[in-house]
Amino acid sequence: MSMTKPFSVAIDGPSGAGKSTISKLLAKELGFIYVDTGALYRAIGYEVLNRGGKPNDSDFVEGILPEINLELKYIEDMQCVLINGEDVTGLIRTPEVSMAASSVSAIPAVRRFLFDLQRETAQKSDVIMDGRDIGTVVLPGADIKIFLTASVQDRAGRRYEELKLKGISTTYSDVLDDMTKRDYNDSNRAAAPLKAAENSIMVDTTGNTLEQSVEIIKGIIQKARNN
Ligand code: C5P
Repeated sequence: MSMTKPFSVAIDGPSGAGKSTISKLLAKELGFIYVDTGALYRAIGYEVLNRGGKPNDSDFVEGILPEINLELKYIEDMQCVLINGEDVTGLIRTPEVSMAASSVSAIPAVRRFLFDLQRETAQKSDVIMDGRDIGTVVLPGADIKIFLTASVQDRAGRRYEELKLKGISTTYSDVLDDMTKRDYNDSNRAAAPLKAAENSIMVDTTGNTLEQSVEIIKGIIQKARNN
């Protein structure tokens, strides 16, 4: 095993800016592990709903944390999330779980609970890690920090197409509403709010094709790696 410190790329930004699609493609090309930290918050939100709790009931949510064993596994480049040994990867993408994730993510105990797992994953391998507070809190020493954003209409449009493809029934206006609410929650919570890290590079993907955004970020990573 190489003794050099693993390389880390932190990509933060609001929902639907293209973080996961872009990160997944680039991680594959670079041979890095793609860590989707939103899936961890989603897994907690899912578990709360599954146990009949309310995601904004911080006493309930904090109470079940000691009973949750969360694991990340990488099978053929795909990240799987396991709760107490059960693979919930396919169950955490519904609009209900998205809203639940946004609610539980405002609870400081939840953020503390997920911190070590995220840190340890980045200490073991070269990673592209995406989320809301990766450059600011989880990996403040990341080699590259990118803040990826786009207009809320663009982001809702992309997310709507994604959900449609997955056969999840919803409307563009519901997705736009949810996205606006999640943006507000994520940016205004007291615990680790969504904001660009001081030394991050801002990339606005409004109007870009996926290929264009990938090329821009690839250029940023290559430049930094050559320095
Ligand atoms: O990225 P994704 O949409 O899957 O994240 C789901 C929710 O988890 C977000 O709306 C956000 O509230 C929360 N989250 C967070 N910090 C992260 C990743 C996600 O608070 N690092």
